[in-house]
Amino acid sequence: MLYIGCHLSSSKGYKHMGQEALSIGANTFQFFTRNPRGSKAKKMDIQDAQALVDLTRQHGFAPIIAHAPYTLNPCAADPQVREFAHLVMGEDLANLDYLPGVLYNVHPGNHVGQGVETGIQLVAELLNTSLRPQQHTLVLLETMSGKGTEVGSSFEEIAAILDRVELQDKMGVCLDTCHIYAAGYDIVNDLEDVLESFDKTIGLSRLKAVHLNDSLNPLASRKDRHTNIGQGTIGLEAMVNFINHPRLRHLPFCLETPGDLTVYAEEIRLLKDAFQA
Ligand code: FE
Ligand code: FE
Ligand code: ZN
Repeated sequence: MLYIGCHLSSSKGYKHMGQEALSIGANTFQFFTRNPRGSKAKKMDIQDAQALVDLTRQHGFAPIIAHAPYTLNPCAADPQVREFAHLVMGEDLANLDYLPGVLYNVHPGNHVGQGVETGIQLVAELLNTSLRPQQHTLVLLETMSGKGTEVGSSFEEIAAILDRVELQDKMGVCLDTCHIYAAGYDIVNDLEDVLESFDKTIGLSRLKAVHLNDSLNPLASRKDRHTNIGQGTIGLEAMVNFINHPRLRHLPFCLETPGDLTVYAEEIRLLKDAFQA
């Protein structure tokens, strides 16, 4: 069974997203915990959250992904920006306990010239002050494209952050296909080598979700521009090989490609048809 879904808007609530996912043939999805560029958290609607939990259980969904806002930058030089990251993560993790089994996807952030080492240390500090032993949520670090001063565009950097986290069992990784391709990992020609390197550096057992995106820009471009499946530099064949790979095929795959629900429904159909039972 292929676990496939897409990014959905949370503006109409949790249960609505579950219904929307069902309507386009999805069995997982992703949403922002708050406005991606904003700051204010919506008040948690516990009943609505429970309704989504019921729906996902009833329909055998894979874990869903809650994406932290882009404004969260634990690596910032400005202490106020770092403080904001701590505040947001604390609030989000408290709210997400109402969605047991959800995965919380976080970008490691931008070191803004302080250097990768400082960045890695600051992300680890955020995680060590935010994670709680009793939380139900797994926090995923997303692999990044390496644009600007982004931290986490190599498997080594992700591993270095994970190594410094105390509550190891609360952590995982989300691999974004567009990002790693832009960062120089050739999943088109050398998928086996890329996965081998991931396994050696991070450990494939830590990989909990995939952002399945084609890339507008070539290998190692360090540019973060997603495009529709089969229409970019990665291409359909590589995408199909990716979802069918024996070491990946059990994972939840989430599209973050441009377009509306109709486009998502078509992409989901395309990938389901290409998935080998
Ligand atoms: Fe992301
Ligand atoms: Fe992503
Ligand atoms: Zn991206």
